[in-house]
Amino acid sequence: MKVVWLQRLTCCGNTHSFLNYPYMETLLERVEFLFHPSFSLEGEEEKITSLLEKDVEIDLLIVEGAVMEEDRSLLELANRARWVMAVGNCAVYGNIPAINNSHVSGLSFRFTEKGGPLKDFVSKGGLPVINISGCPAHPEWICGTMLMLAEGVVPSLDEWNRPKAYYSDLTHWGCVRNEYFEWKVEPSWLGSPKGCLFYKFGCRGPMTHSTCNRILWNGVSSKTRAGTPCFGCTEYNFPKVGLWETKTLAGIPAELPIGVSKRGYIMLAGVAKMFAPERLKDDS
Ligand code: SF4
Ligand code: SF4
Repeated sequence: MKVVWLQRLTCCGNTHSFLNYPYMETLLERVEFLFHPSFSLEGEEEKITSLLEKDVEIDLLIVEGAVMEEDRSLLELANRARWVMAVGNCAVYGNIPAINNSHVSGLSFRFTEKGGPLKDFVSKGGLPVINISGCPAHPEWICGTMLMLAEGVVPSLDEWNRPKAYYSDLTHWGCVRNEYFEWKVEPSWLGSPKGCLFYKFGCRGPMTHSTCNRILWNGVSSKTRAGTPCFGCTEYNFPKVGLWETKTLAGIPAELPIGVSKRGYIMLAGVAKMFAPERLKDDS
């Protein structure tokens, strides 16, 4: 599979994440990079011009970073590619570069709305822009999707055009702190190996679609395992202010886990806290 990777308004964090993929040799047996700014010797303009002039077939165009509404080489390459993939939150939703500039967006979304130069785009392979959100996106989500495409598997996408294989779970699923969540036991200090970070420290695991606690980072850990709250980096409203605290209204979290009603929360949380097993309460 022939791949072109473009960087636009980006910190290059998704390239760093990609380069951390532990099975790179396997990937490179299936994938040939025609261009990547971090490891191609030619300059982008020169290389893209030559690809377009020679009418070279491109299987997958990957874009990292938010984009300007007028980006001719992006549009020309997208129209030639069998598949187009946006990698990382800036390329997916616009994110930080788009906050104060209405001409900047993701490839096919601008925060919650359809927007960007490829908003109505359908690639030769029959899919819209495949979105791999995250800040950065997990290497497994990037490379797993590349390998699916290389093997001819068409990924099934969610409402944000993200592969369901990686984005139908919640970060909360598989978190080792679930028992604390159920009994509403919070840690008394940030970094404690025990306690759930939802009630006090801003954990967005129950509202965030990712497989971070099932496909571990570097095969080792995840934010919540390491004692840091999930910041919700795969969603359109990342980053938020006050990442380390839970906003509350009359003592109830302002945002509740997906699918939980306020009434249900009030009824269950009080009872759970009251009857929480003693063994869960010591976080020393
Ligand atoms: S720390 Fe976060 S992800 Fe883990 S159980 Fe609590 S809310 Fe869920
Ligand atoms: S745990 Fe949350 S903030 Fe961390 S990478 Fe996963 S989705 Fe993003």
